[in-house]
Amino acid sequence: MRYEMMLPHQIRQAIAENWPVALPLGVLEYHGEHMAVGMDTLAVVKMLDLFERQADIVILPPFYYGAASYAVAPPEGNGSVQVGGSALSPFAEELFFSLLRIGFRNIHAIVHHQTENFAAGMPTDLAFKAAGRQAIFRFLEKERGEGWWGSEKMAAYYAEHAEGENPFNWVAVHALMPAEMNGRYPFDHAAIGETSLMMALCPEAVDTGRFGDNTGWYTASAADASTELGNSGRDMILEHLRRILKS
Ligand SMILES: [Zn+2]
Repeated sequence: MRYEMMLPHQIRQAIAENWPVALPLGVLEYHGEHMAVGMDTLAVVKMLDLFERQADIVILPPFYYGAASYAVAPPEGNGSVQVGGSALSPFAEELFFSLLRIGFRNIHAIVHHQTENFAAGMPTDLAFKAAGRQAIFRFLEKERGEGWWGSEKMAAYYAEHAEGENPFNWVAVHALMPAEMNGRYPFDHAAIGETSLMMALCPEAVDTGRFGDNTGWYTASAADASTELGNSGRDMILEHLRRILKS
């Protein structure tokens, strides 16, 4: 369900049944002459729409204003919007803290931008990851008081941690395309991989008549994109979402 359309009784049901709450997280960035600037975020939005047909999930309104950077192209006349990680972090902490206050304990931000080295991290995902940790600490101290971790109630912490149960799992940040997709689907920027994915998920965001206007090296393979390849990526991503978004 889309969060903005939910009634309070539906929100209470989602909390009681521990539905995953997913934030599509992304940027607005130049993606060649042939593709819409919202590509990275649209990919997450469209994938979550597909996933919602098979599972109970809360989808938050997307956040498009991440750190695109001007690494690909200067913004003038090209369209990239850059909000740095240090500005994102306070926003993200308040957002996560608020979602924890509502009662959600199964919160996920899903990002597609600059995720080829996801373990090391890039400004947008690092800002949201750090913010998630900060929000959890702040929330626990507010709810349970200082010394909450050292109290007797937490004696099973390490045993529960070993089983994958701990408060620090309440907020997680994931790449839309997991590392396991490396070698199975092309990771790129505005080239065959991303363009195919957009043709499969959001064809109105691709203008194949503009391939010839591209000059960047990174778009060289865009003209080889196909809906068929995009569909194969879509299926791999759906499999990944089924693994990470569970009630
Ligand atoms: Zn992209």
